[in-house]
Amino acid sequence: MTSAQAQTQAVTPDFNAFAVRADFPILQQQVNGQPLVYLDNAATTQKPEAVIQAISDYYRTDNANVHRGVHTLSDRATHRFEQARERVAGFINSRDSREVIWTRGATEAINLVAYSWARQNLRPGDRILTPWLEHHADIVPWQMAAAACDAEVVPIPVSDAGEIDLAAFEALLDERVRLVAVNQVSNALGTINPVQQMTAMAHAAGALVLVDGAQAVGHFAVDVQALGCDFYTFSGHKLFGPTGIGVLWGREALLEAMPPFLGGGEMIETVSFSGTTYNQLPFKFEAGTPHIAGAVGLAAAIDYLDGIDRVAAAAHEDRLLAMALAQADAIDGLQRVGRPAHNAGIFSFVMQGSHPSDIGMLLDQQGIAVRTGHHCTQPLMERMGVPGTVRASFSMYNTEEDVERLFAGIHKAQALFG
Ligand code: PLP
Repeated sequence: MTSAQAQTQAVTPDFNAFAVRADFPILQQQVNGQPLVYLDNAATTQKPEAVIQAISDYYRTDNANVHRGVHTLSDRATHRFEQARERVAGFINSRDSREVIWTRGATEAINLVAYSWARQNLRPGDRILTPWLEHHADIVPWQMAAAACDAEVVPIPVSDAGEIDLAAFEALLDERVRLVAVNQVSNALGTINPVQQMTAMAHAAGALVLVDGAQAVGHFAVDVQALGCDFYTFSGHKLFGPTGIGVLWGREALLEAMPPFLGGGEMIETVSFSGTTYNQLPFKFEAGTPHIAGAVGLAAAIDYLDGIDRVAAAAHEDRLLAMALAQADAIDGLQRVGRPAHNAGIFSFVMQGSHPSDIGMLLDQQGIAVRTGHHCTQPLMERMGVPGTVRASFSMYNTEEDVERLFAGIHKAQALFG
């Protein structure tokens, strides 16, 4: 492909990857003497200037602690913080911003449910179902809760293609199952899971559903009411926002019935040695000083995305992925790991004769950032029969030239190690 051809493909009437890329200062640099090709978006996305600026402005003009102050800065900080919550509620179509709980990220959000819901509701012999393709963040908290309650975590089988086996899932759904925890998009293979359908199936069997949306929110619009799930979790940093801020969304009635997760300031109504009462939602789950600038930055990321045609951006990512997969299939000795029919921008592979980390290091020498290893999905790696993979994950600011550079690097690695 000539660079002129690549240029035309990255620009459609609805979407211009070059213009989007120009909004991200970090992507303008050289790494190891080459223009940076950033293909580690599943680990974390880069931040547009608008997000960097919003965080900086917050600290320059509005910084104060929230909720408690009577002074003007505290008022402004509180306003921005609560406005950010409203932005998130709108972004995922929550009925009410009281259902939006700030956390440090998806991991903490899942742990909150594992602690406050699971430990209250699991009885001996109860089951939590979670697929083989889950991130450790959506396995380990359930194992910890199950161990505390004499309950059990049971894996839902996945196929060789890396897709959830719905027939096997159906067969597992009996009266012992209290919760199904499933990611909307697999971080290791890109599989877009049928979470709406799985939610309906789980509900029919009397189980609740937690959807881990960590990898979904950066790729397509999410509507928690349409999904029908009971809990939804994600991290701001995979959505072009800052690290250290994330969201637990939960149905109001469930959150109301759950005890607090952490204790301290903010989450109380009154404290006395004769008995403490807890604050209303969402503050009941937000002990201590929150990551105010993080919330402001996440709201700025959502504002930024409002200016982008996300359907066209996803179509652009699909084109890049299709281009990568076609090139991958033409390379002898390269084995794609997982072949999901619906894939949100992830190309995972191993190559005969070379270790994933060697390929990753060689690519880095050429300015190309990918991730190697088990991707916090050791059970999935075991299921797929590999110790780890090389993972290239695409975002809306990647271009066809990035794909070309990646494959030039892969060919070089093969020549060297193969
Ligand atoms: N779930 C999935 C599918 C992920 O990919 C990740 C991070 O890679 C997480 C959960 C955990 O996210 P965080 O580390 O931001 O809490």
